[in-house]
Amino acid sequence: MTHILALLRRSRALPAALLSVVTVLGLLVLVSATSATASNTEAARSVPAPPANPTSADQIQNIDQVRTAIKGYYGDTPTSTPDPVDGAKTLHTFSLTGSYAKEMAAVEQNAAKWLAHPRKGHDYPVPPNQGPKAVLLDIDDTTLNTFNYEIYSNFAFNPATNAAFVNSAAFPAVPGMPTLVNQAVGQGYTIFFLTGRPEGQRPGTVTNLANAGYPSVPSGHLFLKDQVNQPWLASCSPTCTTIQYKSLTRKHIEKDLGFDIVANFGDQFSDLAGGYADQTFKLPNPMYFLP
Ligand SMILES: [Mg+2]
Repeated sequence: MTHILALLRRSRALPAALLSVVTVLGLLVLVSATSATASNTEAARSVPAPPANPTSADQIQNIDQVRTAIKGYYGDTPTSTPDPVDGAKTLHTFSLTGSYAKEMAAVEQNAAKWLAHPRKGHDYPVPPNQGPKAVLLDIDDTTLNTFNYEIYSNFAFNPATNAAFVNSAAFPAVPGMPTLVNQAVGQGYTIFFLTGRPEGQRPGTVTNLANAGYPSVPSGHLFLKDQVNQPWLASCSPTCTTIQYKSLTRKHIEKDLGFDIVANFGDQFSDLAGGYADQTFKLPNPMYFLP
């Protein structure tokens, strides 16, 4: 049930067929056949997914051991902040000196080098790399860290309790990302956010991004999932997969709005697949997997 709820995150109408493609807590990663080229070796280093139909329990990582490993990786740290659902629990957060923060810093160091000296783009229409340069970022676990919610929910996604976290702007920044994004603004980049969160969660999302230290962007540069009012999604609306929704929106940003997306940041391979970015950066997230 845990993994099914995780898959329902940000996609309430996920086709039933996709629900069969599950992994334990997302620690084990499937690489999409359409996965975009990544600038780092994150994909190659990912733990292989278990078989879809195991013939032995020995083929599956023990789920309690996975939970313990995830907490160790993030540096699980209790706080005294009450949860935004009913205040019955106190939130946990990650450590700024833990393995997660260290791995993030390494990815950000690579990204900063790329943004300072991007090579010629290959996705932008001819002539390449001529539009105003842009950076595009996913939100959950790319700009805002949801470890507090995963611990609160014991890794079992629930749309109602998750919405309470989102609408109360309860997520801290992914460590180092506000600095990277503000640095990019200083280098002349236009910032776009592209999330699977529904349009109704825009106010909480805007507040949380601001509280976490990100630059404010025009409302038209923050794309939330609204499949019926966005003409560039007409080919798949209203049942766009994450890859369709995100890659078609990037196509819209490049071909209709005229920007060159120099870097695309995401914690899921489905954030990065489908092109329309000169370079992709996969951020670590062993907590869940979204096809
Ligand atoms: Mg994400």
